[in-house]
Amino acid sequence: MSETELVLRSTRVVTPQGTRAASVTVAGGTITAVLPHDAEAPAGAQVRDFGDDVLLPGLVDTHVHVNDPGRTEWEGFWTATRAAAAGGITTLLDMPLNSLPPTTTAAHLDTKRAVARPKAHVDVGFWGGAIPGNVKELRPLHDAGVFGFKCFLSPSGVDEFPELDQEQLAAALGEIAGFGGLLIVHAEDPGHLGAAPQPHGPKYADFLASRPRASENDAIAGLIGLARRLDARVHVLHLSSSDALPLIAAAKREGVKITVESCPHFLTLTAEEIPDGATEFKCCPPIREAANRDALWEGLADGTLDCIVSDHSPSTADLKTADFGAAWGGISSLQLGLPAIWTEARERGHTLDDVVRWMATAPAALAGLGHKGAIEPGREADFAVLAPEETFTVDPQALQHRNKITAYAGKTLHGVVRSTWLRGREIHDGTTLAAPTGRLLERPHHA
Ligand SMILES: [Zn+2]
Repeated sequence: MSETELVLRSTRVVTPQGTRAASVTVAGGTITAVLPHDAEAPAGAQVRDFGDDVLLPGLVDTHVHVNDPGRTEWEGFWTATRAAAAGGITTLLDMPLNSLPPTTTAAHLDTKRAVARPKAHVDVGFWGGAIPGNVKELRPLHDAGVFGFKCFLSPSGVDEFPELDQEQLAAALGEIAGFGGLLIVHAEDPGHLGAAPQPHGPKYADFLASRPRASENDAIAGLIGLARRLDARVHVLHLSSSDALPLIAAAKREGVKITVESCPHFLTLTAEEIPDGATEFKCCPPIREAANRDALWEGLADGTLDCIVSDHSPSTADLKTADFGAAWGGISSLQLGLPAIWTEARERGHTLDDVVRWMATAPAALAGLGHKGAIEPGREADFAVLAPEETFTVDPQALQHRNKITAYAGKTLHGVVRSTWLRGREIHDGTTLAAPTGRLLERPHHA
């Protein structure tokens, strides 16, 4: 083993065994030990003492729409990975749609990787896409290292990434289960969406009524049935409807291989506060009522919800018109997920240990990234240093993502990211971002 090159000290280090004062040693980009706070540093090692600032594992965001190449004016690997680094995220997984080409063939994956490689400030991996007619592409994509496959059950918002009908869904899931892969699903049922009043105009209430809870609940119920029948592994993306939590909890108790994520906007924002015309709050499924938000927090507390990821899905400002029917659906939050969630979590009596489990350890486990997402020997030396008691007010112009639009503008949040570290190198010091040193990740072979 190489010699210790770095020692990071804090009175508050978040480890899988709890938060404690410690010195974390790093060699060759990997954590080698978590020692007592006053442990003597080996000769020649660089020592950084963060005082009472908290040392967290770098966060893992498995749900990011980078849109590069093809819609790089919406977002790109350069800007998205800078926003991630500034927000304490050291690993992100890119969604297979909104870029051109979408990640629906192995050749398209090669194109995406070539574009991402020189721009990656953090580690970047890729989801593949399951669309009508590409069942034969799934195995090659799996072999090429995608982390799993995303599909929609209702229109995705872009023509080149159509949804699957029930027959196509069963075929794709059967194929994926055959090689032990993972299907991740945008679960809104098209029948319910078609029957609901169609949204148009600036009223948020009209938009909310157009995406009823039943659409999520029934899509998830169907997915559970299919996963049970095919003995397949599925993951529900961006859960908004808290009414689906009992179904999910029952399926988990029964042994169905299902995991679920929610997002900062569903856990921190409410329908009641969204002004008319404020389409920076538009996403699908939608942000629902305050009581729904409370129930989602209960789902986190009891383990029904596994992880919190951003679903960062930006567009240019011209697509965010004041009409909720016409505006692009997607919320930009990559850099703000940690403070947004921490601000709400602390009010509700949760600790940073909980936040780390939801935003680092669990997403790493979802993706099979056993070398990421926790501060313990053998994992990569990815860290975020957080001042959890400090507050700041969100200024969109100060954010790193490409289009300076966010649903969090003007909010005062707790938790300032002081620095971010990737494999033992400081990539963000609170003001400046280092040149890109992120790697492209493949699904570990035995994940
Ligand atoms: Zn998404």
